[in-house]
Amino acid sequence: MDISGVKIGGGNFQIIAGPCSVETRDQIISVAESVKASGATLLRGGAFKPRTSPYDFQGLHGEGIELLLEAKKQTGLPIVTELMNANDLPLFEDIDVIQVGARNMQNFDLLKELGKTDKVILLKRGLANTLKDLLMSAEYIMSEGNENIILCERGIRTFETYTRNTLDLSAVPALHELTHLPVVIDPSHATGLSRMVEPMAMAATAAGADGLMIEVHNDPAHALCDGAQSLTPEQFDRVARRVMKIREAMAE
Ligand code: PEP
Ligand code: MN
Repeated sequence: MDISGVKIGGGNFQIIAGPCSVETRDQIISVAESVKASGATLLRGGAFKPRTSPYDFQGLHGEGIELLLEAKKQTGLPIVTELMNANDLPLFEDIDVIQVGARNMQNFDLLKELGKTDKVILLKRGLANTLKDLLMSAEYIMSEGNENIILCERGIRTFETYTRNTLDLSAVPALHELTHLPVVIDPSHATGLSRMVEPMAMAATAAGADGLMIEVHNDPAHALCDGAQSLTPEQFDRVARRVMKIREAMAE
């Protein structure tokens, strides 16, 4: 699959990195530059945030999209960002990958609208959905004509509470058996703990994932969203280097 010149799947491995939310111009530009220098090939950042509490930061909306496009102009990194409502689609015209978040995985009207576009869609697995449910949601997009879909496992709800979610790594070989679509692992939302991102990123790479999506913030302690699971640019640099070593070992 080709994302504005960046290939994913079929042996091509990519790292999507960036903050949970776009907060300020300085924040997104500085994170974009550092993750690019460490080897990330796509930039993430939420402008429309599906927060559990309505009183938490909801994102900068249109202004956030503008800042992402500015970061793209400066770094050349294609952008991945979440859409929550089809009415906002006109704002996403220059966005490279539209993310459907876990909470919207079964918003079938949204999926059908995205099926009518030619955008690459990053479809995240719902908190309590099976792999078959995920594939049926992908089918909703495909049934309207858009086959540019990347599947993302981001952890599911189980009885375990030590981690934010439980990473289902067997999703990688299972989805590869069931479909030709690229499979990306998000170890940030899967664990909720920055210290666990590195081991899970490495395990996901070894399991054959086609890519990773990792949250990186210039100042995690003060992040407006998901600071506890965000890596600093320095921590991300180490993870990216170690992941690349695993890829090299796998190619031998
Ligand atoms: C995110 O990527 O920041 C996000 C909200 O993810 P999820 O939908 O997987 O919770
Ligand atoms: Mn997040």
